[in-house]
Amino acid sequence: MKTKAGCIVEITIIKNSNPKTKPDQNNLGFGNYFTDHMFVMDYSTEKGWFDPRIVPYGPLELEPSAMVFHYGQETFEGLKAYKNAEGKIQLFRVRDNLKRLNQSNERMCIPQIDEELMFQAIKKLIEVEKEWVPEAAGTSLYVRPFVIATDPFLGVRPASTYKFMVILSPVGAYYKEGLNPTKIFVEDQFVRAVPGGTGFAKTGGNYAASLKAQVEANKKGYSQVLWLDGKERKYIEEVGTSNAFFKIDGKIYTAPLEGSILSGITRDSAIKLLRDWGYEVIEQKITIDELVAYHNEGKLEEAFATGTAAVISPIGVLAFKGNDMVINDGKIGEASQRLYSEMTDIQYGKAEDKFGWITIL
Ligand SMILES: *Cc1c(COP(=O)(O)O)cnc(C)c1O
Repeated sequence: MKTKAGCIVEITIIKNSNPKTKPDQNNLGFGNYFTDHMFVMDYSTEKGWFDPRIVPYGPLELEPSAMVFHYGQETFEGLKAYKNAEGKIQLFRVRDNLKRLNQSNERMCIPQIDEELMFQAIKKLIEVEKEWVPEAAGTSLYVRPFVIATDPFLGVRPASTYKFMVILSPVGAYYKEGLNPTKIFVEDQFVRAVPGGTGFAKTGGNYAASLKAQVEANKKGYSQVLWLDGKERKYIEEVGTSNAFFKIDGKIYTAPLEGSILSGITRDSAIKLLRDWGYEVIEQKITIDELVAYHNEGKLEEAFATGTAAVISPIGVLAFKGNDMVINDGKIGEASQRLYSEMTDIQYGKAEDKFGWITIL
């Protein structure tokens, strides 16, 4: 194949001679199972990215001093492959994920990776693993590209060697019995990201730093936290690892992308669909106090979160300072339901792909 830079690259394949038994499609859950092969490519300052290969899935051998273990120089992405009605495999907005990986790489001082090469790597790996794409309703094959710093060195500086890898995991239907509204805790102590920080990058440290708040919220009976901005703890940012939307008096609000929020591909897809349907979507900062006031006036009509894993996750309860605000009687709203149906229909090839989001492999 030819990369954007015009170089010819061959992906070598070493087949796994010991394939696994595939798990039950009706009990996959998320991120529990991995396929028989993985994609690996190395980087060194002298050679650039080299030796793209598909090899049997298995443990890596790295020195304990490998930099990723100490200072967390790493980035990752997450997207899904779906089996459509004709049995063909299709990806949703894959190029946007690859662009975003390079944006994360730029922030984390990781060298850029040719987008076309990453696409071909994913395509070839899925071809090798096509039997692993589940077809039960709501299931998909989750694709996890990632990059790690591998220099055996304990000084703090960007590494000079890296591995780019792709692993695949068959995942289950997120909702088994229809969309289930969640209970969310508004976090006003811990913060996820600050201006000038790494909030817009998919990098491990952001998630390590978020665990404490998540655990505390779970203990109180909430499934996720709603993050407020890291400076004033006032403006609404995200919900866990998904973007947040609020329907207030007929209009739909979501936080603007100003560096501390992850630029979700589901967020962008939701905005485009909603606008196409005639909704006014406003990317504007709202404070938690404003949101409480709208709720008290009966104007907070719907709240939902967007992300690759769940697509749309309706919010039934928001807990702030000891008060549970019940939204839309704890039921899924009209816009949330319509978005979920339309987006999943596009992803599975049941609805027209008028925005050109689908790549059939
Ligand atoms: C991945 C992620 C999202 C959602 O992004 P999608 O592209 O829609 O999956 C939102 N917030 C955070 C913090 C994330 O890591």
